[in-house]
Amino acid sequence: MLKKLPVARAESVFGDFKGEYTPEQALVEANRCLYCSDAPCIKACPTQIEIPEFIRKIATGNLRGSARTIFDANILGMSCARVCPVEVLCVGDCVYNHMGVPPIQIGKLQRFATDRAFERGDRFFAAGADTGKSIGLVGGGPASLAAAHELRRLGHRCTIYEKREVLGGLNTTGVAPYKMKADRSVEEVEWILAIGGIELRTGVEVGKDVTFEALEKQHDALFIGLGLGPDTSLDVPGKDLAGVYGAVDFIERFKLGQFALDGTTTALVIGGGNTAIDVVREAKGLGVPVSTMVYRGQPDKMPGYRHEWAAAKVEGATAIFQALPVAFEGNGRVERVKLVRLDETKKPLAGTEFVVEAQLVLLAIGQSKLGQLLAGLAGVTLERDRIVVDEHGFTGRKGLYAGGDCANGGKEVVNAAAEGKASARAIDRFLSGEAHG
Ligand SMILES: Cc1cc2nc3c(=O)[nH]c(=O)nc-3n(C[C@H](O)[C@H](O)[C@H](O)COP(=O)(O)OP(=O)(O)OC[C@H]3O[C@@H](n4cnc5c(N)ncnc54)[C@H](O)[C@@H]3O)c2cc1C
Ligand code: SF4
Repeated sequence: MLKKLPVARAESVFGDFKGEYTPEQALVEANRCLYCSDAPCIKACPTQIEIPEFIRKIATGNLRGSARTIFDANILGMSCARVCPVEVLCVGDCVYNHMGVPPIQIGKLQRFATDRAFERGDRFFAAGADTGKSIGLVGGGPASLAAAHELRRLGHRCTIYEKREVLGGLNTTGVAPYKMKADRSVEEVEWILAIGGIELRTGVEVGKDVTFEALEKQHDALFIGLGLGPDTSLDVPGKDLAGVYGAVDFIERFKLGQFALDGTTTALVIGGGNTAIDVVREAKGLGVPVSTMVYRGQPDKMPGYRHEWAAAKVEGATAIFQALPVAFEGNGRVERVKLVRLDETKKPLAGTEFVVEAQLVLLAIGQSKLGQLLAGLAGVTLERDRIVVDEHGFTGRKGLYAGGDCANGGKEVVNAAAEGKASARAIDRFLSGEAHG
């Protein structure tokens, strides 16, 4: 039984950024698809969903079949329809982009088909015949959920070890609420777990409450889907003042509970990646009048997606480029941030310090990597604290597989889903005596 989220959550103030199709709109859009052979949109999807096939099924009124096509490739297809950066994946590769015609809104069509399946309570997949094997999965995020579901289809029993009380990983605690709220992610987790045979051990931090070696002895194989670690801090005076938060920590707090920002007139977000862009919009949406991002490089060098920053600006977010905080100042609580201007090589320019008022500072300069938890396990290689794996998620240590952010260094939900599933299939081959690991 999953822990229920509090009904009153600060994230509830956010609307639905992309909105949903009516049946008529979905039909019109589906009928625009050219059903390309060798479709580039499929190649752009890490889970290789048969996009023209699911769109054709919408066009012919076979909504259940459409959802089945999606979930067969990606069991997290409902959340991916909402959170995927489709502009740089499937939609970005639609052939219409080369014809001066708006591309097919694949994400919105996927959302239309998968939402209808959830509403009807459709179930598509049953567990396979019991193999008597058991697999432990460390972490309860998208990577492990995708792996566990696939392993159940193949007949293996699964146990998920998750340190939090909620499952879904960053899909529940991190993605922007205008894309998807936490309860929708938890609903998806429940839907995935309904396949049965996946035991949950929440509140268990592997590496602290139980060792990896102990789990290896207990199970026939182990999948590691730990994700990334806590927000990286900034080593400047005042970093421990109240009101200074890691961005991912802040997002989790307001997504899962209440977070009063009364009296906060200015939020300053440090960073230029996608988390920085999300959180600068989120602070604005939570009611902070001035929400500003501070990025050390030039606007065109920002690592965050262009389309996301364009949307943030429309909502009133602002930015200071080529600057870096040198101190957070205030009496017990942050009140001001001292910044310095940077030159084009990101070196501080002497005598250019200036001060900006801010009662909320959000550090979005990266998350630590948890791969080091596996340091010392014979056969496991770490590269900048990422767990090195082959294309099947095999770590090099017998029976040990990994996927998602802890192995790819931090990508998207759809990558975690694809890697979890690939590992599940490799684990199945390993357990049935085929050559692999
Ligand atoms: C702020 C933010 C916004 C994002 N927005 C998007 C988006 O809009 N679209 C998108 O596609 N992607 C987005 N991402 C990225 C996406 O969320 C991740 O790529 C994806 O969730 C990775 O899945 P995962 O299963 O590898 O890891 P996670 O989702 O991080 O899940 C890992 C799980 O492991 C648990 N865990 C960690 N250590 C232990 C331990 N020692 N023992 C037991 N359990 C442990 C964690 O509690 C967590 O539940 C976002 C990321 C962030 C930070
Ligand atoms: S590339 Fe565009 S038009 Fe072609 S199948 Fe994919 S969505 Fe349809």
